[in-house]
Amino acid sequence: MIDHTSLHLLIGGETISGGGRETQDVIDPATAEVLGALPHATKDDLDQALANAESGFQEWRRTSADKRAAALNKAAALLRERASDIGQLLTREQGKPVREAIGEVVYCAMLLEFYAGEAKRTYGRELVRPAGQAARVIYVPVGPIAGFAAWNFPAINVVRKVGGAIAAGCSVIVKPSEETPAAGIALVQALLDGGVPGNVCQCVFGVPDEVSRHLLASPVIRKVTFTGSTAVGKHLVKLAADDLKVTTMELGGHAPVMVFKDSDVDTVLDTMVGAAYRNAGQVCVSPTRFLVEEDLFPAFRDGFVERAKAIAVGNGFDKDTRMGPMANERGPEGLAKKIADAKNHGAKLDTGGERIGNQGFFFEPTVLSEVPTEAEIMNEEPFGPIALINPMAGADAIIEEANRLPYGLAAYAWTNDPVLRSRLAADVEAGMLAINGANVSAPDAPFGGVKWSGFGREDGAEGVMHCMVAKTIHEG
Ligand code: NAD
Repeated sequence: MIDHTSLHLLIGGETISGGGRETQDVIDPATAEVLGALPHATKDDLDQALANAESGFQEWRRTSADKRAAALNKAAALLRERASDIGQLLTREQGKPVREAIGEVVYCAMLLEFYAGEAKRTYGRELVRPAGQAARVIYVPVGPIAGFAAWNFPAINVVRKVGGAIAAGCSVIVKPSEETPAAGIALVQALLDGGVPGNVCQCVFGVPDEVSRHLLASPVIRKVTFTGSTAVGKHLVKLAADDLKVTTMELGGHAPVMVFKDSDVDTVLDTMVGAAYRNAGQVCVSPTRFLVEEDLFPAFRDGFVERAKAIAVGNGFDKDTRMGPMANERGPEGLAKKIADAKNHGAKLDTGGERIGNQGFFFEPTVLSEVPTEAEIMNEEPFGPIALINPMAGADAIIEEANRLPYGLAAYAWTNDPVLRSRLAADVEAGMLAINGANVSAPDAPFGGVKWSGFGREDGAEGVMHCMVAKTIHEG
C-alpha cells in the first residue's frame, strides 16, 4: 500500500519515481509539515503514457463490456477493503475528518459499481427503414482521455475522471492534484489490481499547466475532462479547441439556498448548516448564498450563528472533529481578503472571520449577513467555511438573485408550495436543484453545471455516455 514516503507515477502499470525526476513537497494542512516528495513526470514519461494510452485504447475498446464491468466491480471491492487505509492517507494530505475521508472512498466504490452496470447499458437504436434496408445507431468510445482533478475531493474527483471512461471502453491518463496525490494513486492502483490493464488507466503528476499543454498537444487524446476553477477550465477548453477535442468541465459554483416563508427554520438549519461547513466549505456545490424571506431572517441568522459556533474544528484524525483545516495556504489567505472586502462594503460579521492557531490552515466557521451584492464574496466562489445570509422580499426577488451570477452548478430551495416547486424546477439556472434537502449527488444522478459552472456530466448514465460518440450504420 502506498504512503507519503513512496509517492510515484503509474505509467503502463509500472511504478515510476526517482531517476533524477523533479519532485515537489506534499504538505499536511493540519500541521504544514512536509509529508513526502512527489515525483514529476518528464516529457519522455508523458510521451510514454500517450503511446500506452493509444495501444490501451485499441485493446480496451475491443474488450467485452462484461470484462470491463468485472474489472470495475473488482476494483470497487478492493476500494471497500482498503477504504480505511486510503481514507487515512486522504485526511493526512487534505485535512477532512477521517470519517468523511473513508466515506469518500466508499462512495468511489459505489460509483465504480454503478459505472460497471452502465458499461453493459450503452444501448444504441434501430431506425425505421423500408424492407431490405437498415440503419442503426451504435455508441463507441470517444478515444483516449486526459483527466485533471482537483484537491477538494482527492478520491471522488479522480474516480469521476476514470470510472466512466473505463466503463465506456476508453483509456485514460489522469493527473490528480499534486497537493493530494496519494489518494489518487491508491485509486488507480485499485483499478489496476482489479484487472484494468496498465496502459488503460495511468496516473501522472507535474506542473499542471505543463502536463496539460503536453497531453492536449497530442492527437492521441480525444477528450479532456477537468474539475477545478472556471478560469483554468476556460483555458483548457481553448487548448482543446485547437484539435477539436471533446471537453467535460466541472467548474466552480456559488450555490444559492432559497428559504421561502413556509419553511420550518430549525429543519432548514439542522440540514443546511452542516452542509455549508462540510469539507471546510471547499465543495463546488457548497450552500453559499442563503436567501431568506425577511420574516424568517432574524431567527434564521441567529440559529445559524449558534450552530456555526458549536462546530468542533480540529485535526481530521481527532474523533470529535467536525471540520478540519482548509486544504492549502491559499484557502485562509483568500478567504480573509474576501471577508475584509465584504466588511468594507457594509456586511455584518456575525461569527468567525479569523484563522485559528498558528499551525496549519485552520479557519473559523464564519457567518456574514446583509452582504451587499457588490461585495466580491457575493460574486466569486468563497470556497471556504463561510455562509452569506441575506433577507429577501418575496419569491420573485429570491429567484432573480439565485440566477444573478454567471455560475449555475447546484441550487437549494426550501418550500412545500407545489406551485413554487414546479416554478423552481423550471426557472432556476443550475445543473442540480435540491428541494427540501441538502443532497445533490448520487451515483445514478448526472452531476455538472450550466453557464460558467461548466458542461458535460459525470456520474449517472450520462457519465458514461459523455465518454462515447454516436456512430450511424446505414445498410442498403
Ligand atoms: P485551480 O483551478 O487553479 O486548480 C484546481 C486543480 O486544477 C488543481 O488540482 C490544479 O492542479 C489543477 N490545474 C490548475 N491549472 C491547471 C492546468 N493548466 N492544467 C491542468 N490542471 C490544472 O484552482 P485552485 O487555485 O486550487 O482553487 C481556486 C478556486 O478554484 C477555488 O477557490 C474554487 O473556486 C475553484 N475550485 C473548484 C473546484 C471544483 O470542485 N469545481 C475544485 C477546486 C477549486
